[in-house]
Amino acid sequence: MSNAKVLDGRRTAAELRAAIGVKVRDLQGECRRVPGLAVVLVGDDPASKVYVGQKEKACREAGIRSFLHHLPASTSTSTLTELLEDINKDPDVHGMLVQLPIPGHIDWTEAVRSIDVRKDVDGTHPLNLGRLVMGLDTVEPCTPRGVMYLLKKYGIDLSGKRAVVLGRSNIVGKPMAQLLLAADATVTVCHSKSIDIETMTREADIIIAAIGRPEFLKASMVKPGCVVVDVGISRLDGGLVGDVDFQDVSRVASWITPVPGGVGPMTIAMLLQNTLERYLELECA
Ligand code: NAP
Repeated sequence: MSNAKVLDGRRTAAELRAAIGVKVRDLQGECRRVPGLAVVLVGDDPASKVYVGQKEKACREAGIRSFLHHLPASTSTSTLTELLEDINKDPDVHGMLVQLPIPGHIDWTEAVRSIDVRKDVDGTHPLNLGRLVMGLDTVEPCTPRGVMYLLKKYGIDLSGKRAVVLGRSNIVGKPMAQLLLAADATVTVCHSKSIDIETMTREADIIIAAIGRPEFLKASMVKPGCVVVDVGISRLDGGLVGDVDFQDVSRVASWITPVPGGVGPMTIAMLLQNTLERYLELECA
């Protein structure tokens, strides 16, 4: 029997995208250009191609121009950096991102530093991540921002709550932990070297799973009434699967996000929101 109520990312994201579309239309006439987002895809990872296609479609529907730059998998760090520097100078582009993952030979820490910090819609430039850690105004990475938006939308209070984040990547786990901390949660971050993860998850009031391990989180690892957010996406033969065993964990959680239809759509909606905010700063200030 399922107890958990669903945090409906699909519906929340659709409402947000529609509101962004209205705002973009209203701004025309006030500002000179249409908002523009550049996406750089390196290589031919099939999942990345799907995500890039979803981003282009969402942009189109919201009235945002999208520019796709597709580079071969053999691209060097310097070629990628040169392209990013060219995009920095393009006045029609207000937000830019490189679709991750990128091929392993590329030095991502070097490439990301060449993105104009004001156009960094993924919030992964070291300056933006540093500002996030310091609690300063910044560009919040899309996925963690989407999770926070969803939790707020459903009235889930975080102050004083024990939160466990599974995963410590720069794009999801670490910024997620910072945003939870900023919302006054007490945060534990677990990773592949963490020992006895169940003991930590069983004490959590809220769990954010972002490790890319299909159905890793089981009901036996979750305290009754816990809020469970599943960021993970794995593509298996049967379709998309999250890091949470949805059926099992639904028996004990109070709230849960499905996969698909949870965090994924929120990430795209937040990408549009970040693009709009970059546009307002660059174009209309
Ligand atoms: P990532 O860069 O590969 O990081 C994975 C993290 O999980 C690492 O910190 C790793 O630990 C940790 N980890 C791996 N196996 C573990 C285990 N058995 N126990 C505990 N920790 C473990 O991945 P990511 O970019 O953060 O993405 C994570 C997942 O979210 C993926 O499935 C990805 O597809 C999905 N994702 C979804 C969205 C969305 O919009 N829904 C957006 C972005 C990503 P170490 O640091 O020790 O290696």
